[in-house]
Amino acid sequence: MGLWLRGASVRILGGGGEVGRLSILVKLKDSKEGIIVDSGVNFDEEDRPIFSSTYPPRYVNAIVLSHAHLDHIATAPMYFISETPRVYATKPTSRMAKLMLEDFLKLNGYFSPYEHYEVKRLLENVETIRFGQMVGVGNGTYTLEFYSAGHIPGSVFTVVNAGDIRVGITGDVNTIETKLMKPAQLDVIGRLDVLVTEATYGSTLHPPRRKAEERLRHIVEEVIDSGGTVLIPAFSIARGQEIMMVLAERDYGVPVYVDGMIRQVTEIFMESREYINNFSLLKKAYEEFRMVQGWRDRNKAWRTPSIIISSAGMLKGGPSLYYLKRMGQNPRNAIVLVSFQAPGSNGRKIVEEGVMPSGEPVRARVEWIDFSSHADWKGLASIVEKTRPSKVIIVHSEVDVAREYARRLTSLYDVDVIIGENEKEYVFEP
Ligand SMILES: [Zn+2]
Ligand SMILES: [Zn+2]
Repeated sequence: MGLWLRGASVRILGGGGEVGRLSILVKLKDSKEGIIVDSGVNFDEEDRPIFSSTYPPRYVNAIVLSHAHLDHIATAPMYFISETPRVYATKPTSRMAKLMLEDFLKLNGYFSPYEHYEVKRLLENVETIRFGQMVGVGNGTYTLEFYSAGHIPGSVFTVVNAGDIRVGITGDVNTIETKLMKPAQLDVIGRLDVLVTEATYGSTLHPPRRKAEERLRHIVEEVIDSGGTVLIPAFSIARGQEIMMVLAERDYGVPVYVDGMIRQVTEIFMESREYINNFSLLKKAYEEFRMVQGWRDRNKAWRTPSIIISSAGMLKGGPSLYYLKRMGQNPRNAIVLVSFQAPGSNGRKIVEEGVMPSGEPVRARVEWIDFSSHADWKGLASIVEKTRPSKVIIVHSEVDVAREYARRLTSLYDVDVIIGENEKEYVFEP
């Protein structure tokens, strides 16, 4: 019985026991050809890229890019050195991927096995997908389904139907509503056999978004009332725009400046209306706030009471680092961090050690607010609750966090949990 049913396998090419450089291969158990979901990079302590593993390009039927963050896309151009596999991505993802990959090559070209030519070929081979769409690949061997993952505009939760196994891959996922994003479309995915899930925050709970928004508004008001300037370093994709939206709801009586790559990404979002939760609020912010055009604007912005939203989010570079150097010594000012701060980053140092990149003490007020775009452990568990898989593979998570999340999951549901390891292949029979 069941001999004619076809099993499938999931191989972890990156993102096993680490946050970042996710890459997953799904294929029929007995086939060489398969589907790649994401192909990203990580960075070492010296900020050099660590690429994910690749699969022989001639056996790749398609590559899905779940979203445009580098830890999901920056190895993908390698597949275009020798072949031209088809790429599936939403419109905002492919537009941001261009921006991100070009910036990646500018900073890391020396370490990269591919060049602008391969990035161009990748972008030329993108087939635009929409949420709810189904696509047959490899002469119908695989059927792909795409749902919103709620993480950033255009991010997808991918389902790969391989033989008789239905594999869901979260990519990066969020299950709460924010001004920028609707939550992931968990109610329409249906039942999965295998769930490959991120678990970046598999052992933590985030504060309610409303609380984070209130705290931000409160701090901004206090600083502006006492004549200071507020610097909000933010990630270029999604975080910067969400902060713009939170601030656009009220008039603080001072100009709001937007600087760095946040501007270009906002322009992409302005043409991606269907992917934005409260589009009119984003439009209001885009029209009312001042987009910094050059050094003249930049110098004016920090000298007068104002609010500055600028990339880079961890103060690793970009205009936010310039502002920090000029604003960090004045106790009237505030630096409000709203993004993840990696250990060793300038942002982490001002929070934890109170020192500027120069080594001098920070005298401005420093605050750090949790605006995460990843689900916390309860949000992640709700994905299992709604898709009822029999097997779960945890990826995109530190090993300790993955273990803790696995423990919580198995205490709640009747499910086998695997902590995914790089280079391992897991076989599933119907
Ligand atoms: Zn990620
Ligand atoms: Zn992401």
